[in-house]
Order: sequence, then C-alpha cells, then structure tokens
Amino acid sequence: MIIPLQQSDIDTDTQESKVDIMALIVQKFGGTSVADTQRIRNVANRALKTHAQGNDVVVILSAMAGVTDHLIGLANEATKTPDRRELDVLLATGEQTTAALLAMMLKGMGTKAQSLLGHQAEVVTDCEYGNARILEIGTNRIKRLLADRNIVVVAGFQGVDIKGNITTLGRGGSDTSAVAIAAALNADICEIYTDVDGIYTADPNICPRARKIKEISYDEMLNMASLGAKVLQIRSVGVAKKYNIPVHVRSSFSQEEGTMVVQEDSVMEQLVVSGVTHDLDQARITLKKVPDQPGIAAKIFSPIAESGILVDMIIQNTRAAGQTDLTFTVPRADYNRAMETQKKLAEKIGAEEVFGDPNIAKVSVIGVGMKNHSGVASLMFNALSRENINIIMISTSEIRISCIIEEKYTELAVRVLHTAFGLDKED
Ligand code: ADP
Ligand code: ASP
Ligand code: MG
Repeated sequence: MIIPLQQSDIDTDTQESKVDIMALIVQKFGGTSVADTQRIRNVANRALKTHAQGNDVVVILSAMAGVTDHLIGLANEATKTPDRRELDVLLATGEQTTAALLAMMLKGMGTKAQSLLGHQAEVVTDCEYGNARILEIGTNRIKRLLADRNIVVVAGFQGVDIKGNITTLGRGGSDTSAVAIAAALNADICEIYTDVDGIYTADPNICPRARKIKEISYDEMLNMASLGAKVLQIRSVGVAKKYNIPVHVRSSFSQEEGTMVVQEDSVMEQLVVSGVTHDLDQARITLKKVPDQPGIAAKIFSPIAESGILVDMIIQNTRAAGQTDLTFTVPRADYNRAMETQKKLAEKIGAEEVFGDPNIAKVSVIGVGMKNHSGVASLMFNALSRENINIIMISTSEIRISCIIEEKYTELAVRVLHTAFGLDKED
C-alpha cells in the first residue's frame, strides 16, 4: 500500500496525482517527541509504517527535550566563556544520542537502518560556531542507503565546516536540517513532528482560543517565525520557500492532519490578520539626552554591530535644545554586553544617562491581508489600552505591527489581540 499524500502534492497542471507513486518522505521529530526511549519507539513505529507503505524515509532527530539546555549549563559550569568550537562539539552529542538510539531500535525491529551524524550526511556549513549556515549537502551516501531500503536516521542541528570542524545550526536548528536535507534529496514532503498538532493563530500554550491553521504561506510563516513563533526555525522556512518544499507541521502524538506550509498562491483563505505572536527574547536600552548631531547614530550602533549583536527596533525622539533620546532593542542574551558598550560610549559622546529593561516582550499581529486594509493599528492599540497595557515601542511593516510591552502582560496581550482581530475559535 502507498500512503496518500496531501492535496498539494497533486500536480494541478496535469492532474497527475503522486498518490500512486512511491514517495521520498523526510520526517523530523523534535525534542519532546524523542524525550525518552518509549517516545523514540513511537518514532520508530511511525517511520516503519511509512517505510512499509513503500516510501523512502529519512528521519531527522533533535536531542531529547532539555538535553541541549543541560549541555549548555554544563559548559557554563566548566568555564565562564566556553570556547565556541568546543561548545558545538558538546552540543552535537545530544542529537548523536537520539540518532543512535533510533537506528538501533529500528534494526532491533528487523528493519534496515543506519544513523548518520552531520558530517557523515555531508551537511557542509560555514564556520560560524553556534549559528552555522548550511552551504551544501552531499546526498550520495543517503541515496545509496535509501536505494538499499534503509531508513536513514540523520542527527539534526549539526554539520561540518570545510576544515572538518563540527558546527551547530542555532537553537531549533533541526528544523533547518530537515528541510535542507529534503531540498537536497528533492523529497516529496518534509514532515515536522512536534508537541502541538499544527501551526496556530497564536501559541496554543498561552492562548487557549487559538485556532489551527490549515494552510499558511511561506511568507506568512517567515513573519511568524521571525516574530517569535518558534514552532519552526525561521531559516527552515526560508529554505522551504527557496526550494518549494511542502512542509507539514503535525503532532507526533496523534494521527491528525496538521498545517501545510506552502506557496502563497495555493493558500485558499486569506484573512486580514492571520496570527498573533509574542517574543520574550527582547531587551530595551535607552540613551538619554544624546547630542543631536550628524553621525551620532553611527557612533552608537557601530560598536554594537562589531560585537555581533542584532539590533531590532530603534526609536529616536527629538528633545528641545539639540538633544535626543535613543531607544533600541537587542536579544535578551546580549543585554549585558550591549549595556556595557553603551555605558562606555555614553561618556565619550556626552549622553546624560544609559538605562535599560530586560523584562519586555514584543507582541505582533501579522497578515498579508493588511496590505489592503486600514485601521489595523488603531484596533491593536485600542485593544491593548482597554486592558491598561502600556505600549513602550511600536514598529510596523506592510504586513505586521509590533508593540513592545512589559513582559508580565504578554499572555493577556496575546489573548486580547487574538479576540480583537476575530481569530478566536468558536466554542
Ligand atoms: P520541537 O521541540 O518539536 O522542535 P518547539 O518547542 O521548538 O518544538 O516548537 C513547538 C512549540 O512552538 C509549541 O509547543 C508552542 O508552544 C510553540 N509555538 C509558538 N507559536 C506557535 C504557533 N503559532 N503555533 C504552534 N505552536 C507555536
Ligand atoms: N537540540 C537543538 C535545540 O534544542 C536543536 C533542535 O531541537 O532543533 O535547540
Ligand atoms: Mg523546535
């Protein structure tokens, strides 16, 4: 028997369906799906079933839930500033463990299977330890194993640079491993198995009225991921879009259909606002009474850029008498470093004071339908003000509006915005 694929796998030009053709399916399982050996057995059963239906199967695994955090904790106990190369060697062991366990389980069940680490799967990356980018994937070894009817198990999140060093792809990077391997193999579909049964209009873990989205475009998912919806690592969505890989996000704990991430023109229903996101990985820094002169912004942001810190929002308010206040946001993990550079700089440029707040959050409403609708911003601001939630910063683009608020109001803000934009599911 051959597994039935999604509607989107049916070639609409020729009306030729892939349903009767053996498919190449990439299945990625996240940390909670491989949290213990019993759950890894569930993964084995699912991969086996897909394989027994006649498909070629490549499984990409994350580390067991909590393991990557635990390893980072150990590294920080070992030394204050862990060497980045050695940290990647350490972090890669999380995925090595689960890949080996799954492959030995599959072999024990009588199936041909083999585990491959990043370098064995020829996932070649640049040299940016901790946040490496995939440059190319040599598929020969995987293809040979598939041709010999193996289930190929690849350790996610890791690669190898051109000097042979182990690299990792940034938090959540197994998603990118999976989509990139699916693209390199020209797979029919990349299935992302996780602890929720699809992509929702807001994080279902904090917004009980969030609705599951049946189909979402690559662009909208790129926006949601960049604004805090960590269900897919943003780079995985970029790769999926570039190579037009259909991605199916679904639960590893049920058989239910999840959400298809596909090209925009194949998404049937387009709402004005399609989702609300929140991002707690934010911190704010303000420089007060900065001399308002040409070149001052360059002086402030150059040292931040040189330290590799990504600045997100920037607001400049002009004061009277040639002075200005400048506020910007950085990732929370970089807050202390960014504060240090700014305190040193403030003296040099004659700013009166530097202060900051690491306990802020960014809430955003997103939707390509916003392009043609007015009133979205005022609806958002009114909804927040009714709950007395103060807006600290605002930024907008054609298809999203983001507000920085106090962290303690995050859940409330997500819920009221979800209701205000008519996204709540019916009871
Ligand atoms: P995995 O370990 O399987 O990679 P992640 O924790 O990285 O899982 O991603 C799944 C989580 O993403 C969910 O548990 C959920 O809390 C969160 N999430 C945030 N926004 C959304 C959203 N809009 N839809 C679904 N899940 C979301
Ligand atoms: N184990 C890595 C992490 O926790 C990669 C992943 O799970 O995608 O970020
Ligand atoms: Mg993840």
